[in-house]
Amino acid sequence: MSLSEIKARISSQEAQSGRDTGTTTLIAVSKIQPNKRVESVLEEGHRIFGENRVQEAAGKWPEFREKFDGVELHLLGPLQSNKARQAMELFDVIHTLDREKLATRFAQLRDELGKCPDLFIQVNTGKEPQKAGIDPEDTDAFIEKCRDLNLPVIGLMCIPPVDEEPSLHFALLAKLAKRNDLQGLSMGMSGDFETAIAQGATHIRVGSAIFGDRVYDQG
Ligand SMILES: *Cc1c(COP(=O)(O)O)cnc(C)c1O
Repeated sequence: MSLSEIKARISSQEAQSGRDTGTTTLIAVSKIQPNKRVESVLEEGHRIFGENRVQEAAGKWPEFREKFDGVELHLLGPLQSNKARQAMELFDVIHTLDREKLATRFAQLRDELGKCPDLFIQVNTGKEPQKAGIDPEDTDAFIEKCRDLNLPVIGLMCIPPVDEEPSLHFALLAKLAKRNDLQGLSMGMSGDFETAIAQGATHIRVGSAIFGDRVYDQG
């Protein structure tokens, strides 16, 4: 699907859900995609992109940023504490604040660097053992902790279990955000972004529907 088709689907879903046009931020998830595909989306005028790995992003975005003004980069994958500094320098928004140690590290680095990306707290709405994120019942306390550290937390993020109805998870995330006065909701991917918009997503993360399937290296 093309970028313009995705944008049309977003607008139409916003209208259907009684939302103002343009209230959903589209993050084009460019991880693994060949540079040629990413560059053509940049040439179409899109500027907001998401990556999963610090290393991969560091390898391609400095060059794209030289060529295209106004790029906004979002980190969507798990972050090791020892890569926090590099991530804070490279990304404008980090969606995967998922533990206390990382919150403390961000606060330290914010004091050192004099800046901090906007942050989403990742919530493990399905309580999957293999998945990162704060358990739903611990989320209020974790938000409180981040506020004590003066971190710029702007919302919550989730990745629903693949085999479950995503809308239940989106609803839970929206409830947790609302009762903590957080505006941002990072939820919805290629297969379910329309459902997410209907439930109030402010940031949707769409990869394969824009760029095509990710072709992983066979080696
Ligand atoms: C890869 C990824 C996406 C995009 O997935 P698609 O199904 O290709 O749209 C969104 N969010 C996260 C956290 C991802 O890792």
